[in-house]
Amino acid sequence: MTLTPSHIIEYLYCPRFTYFEYVIAIPQYEGRLHKVQKGRQIHDTKLERNKMYLRKKIGAVEKYTDQYLTNGLLRGKIDEVLLLKNNTMSPLDYKFAAYNDKIYDTYKTQLFCYAWLIEENFKKKVERGFLIYTRSNDKLIEVEIRDIDKEKVKHSANEIFYIISNNFYPKSTKFKKRCLNCTYKNICIS
Ligand code: SF4
Repeated sequence: MTLTPSHIIEYLYCPRFTYFEYVIAIPQYEGRLHKVQKGRQIHDTKLERNKMYLRKKIGAVEKYTDQYLTNGLLRGKIDEVLLLKNNTMSPLDYKFAAYNDKIYDTYKTQLFCYAWLIEENFKKKVERGFLIYTRSNDKLIEVEIRDIDKEKVKHSANEIFYIISNNFYPKSTKFKKRCLNCTYKNICIS
């Protein structure tokens, strides 16, 4: 079994969510939690539009599209992996969404996951990632990716495997507000 960025996002939302979803195997109702979503239309249009500006705006010298990467623990499909002038690499992800002055934590976590996958597969350092918001005129947003961000994702992946392999009932989230909308609130003993 390998995890996806969605597993990591769910775990960071609440470790106990991971327990209900994958140990007890009670499926969540679709759409109740932030999921890594992908607009289908993006796929059709993105190929045409992004050739020129990437080089100009980001300084990419090479681009690898639709990369399915795994490292034995995690797997993910990255819209684009860019090689930058300074010999680092970056994930670039298209969002079929408008930019509203806030980068969702879920989007950042997804980029951190991709950074881990890229570093292990391409053997290049990843220090930043990029988001393109297609509903805001392809607005390009840069996201810093620190070592601590990648470590957090790795730690989460290991914790998830521990919960699943040991039927371990983890601590609840510290953020009690999250329980209000949680699909498991009726069966979760906080
Ligand atoms: S009800 Fe709260 S503690 Fe329980 S799984 Fe949901 S978010 Fe976590």
